[in-house]
Amino acid sequence: MRTGGRGWTVNGAATGLDLPWSDGTFPPPALSRRRVVWDALMGMALHEATHALASGDVPVGAIVVGPDGRLVGVGRNRREETGDPTAHAEVLALRQAALSTGQWRLTGCTLVVTLEPCVMCAGALVAARVHRLVLGAWDPKAGASGSVWDMVRDHRANHHVEVVGGVREAECSAVLRAFFESHRTPVEEDR
Ligand SMILES: [Zn+2]
Repeated sequence: MRTGGRGWTVNGAATGLDLPWSDGTFPPPALSRRRVVWDALMGMALHEATHALASGDVPVGAIVVGPDGRLVGVGRNRREETGDPTAHAEVLALRQAALSTGQWRLTGCTLVVTLEPCVMCAGALVAARVHRLVLGAWDPKAGASGSVWDMVRDHRANHHVEVVGGVREAECSAVLRAFFESHRTPVEEDR
């Protein structure tokens, strides 16, 4: 449901933000065109990730796009900033998406994140019934969407998430690598 304007309002009437493809063709059927859209969305998540640097947080960014291609949620890792162990980018983006759409069930939504979700976030994706996960860098140490665990595609779960991996992987990894090279302490590497 479009309520007009390109702005972002959350109070009452849930809107979000129109994106160039918010015309009912999201995602485009052609795989080549789809890749262009994933790349563009990952660019937004990457931009959000860089904002985490100001608070010394591990730079991870996430966005949620509705079934119509509209931006409905944005989040970045704010664990250090808020002192909240659950303040991961994906959780915050899901919360905003729920607020924007007015419901916890994010059916048909796509979550785009710069780093493979952890156990908590993968669980949150399933709980929110997110349709698709687009991820940048894989996390071989703590990833729960195909690397160490695969909680989003566990056959025992009542909901499965489509996974598109490795989107702008080199850039997403480079942002994290640069962060850890300048914050090399065991505590901050514990993500
Ligand atoms: Zn997480």
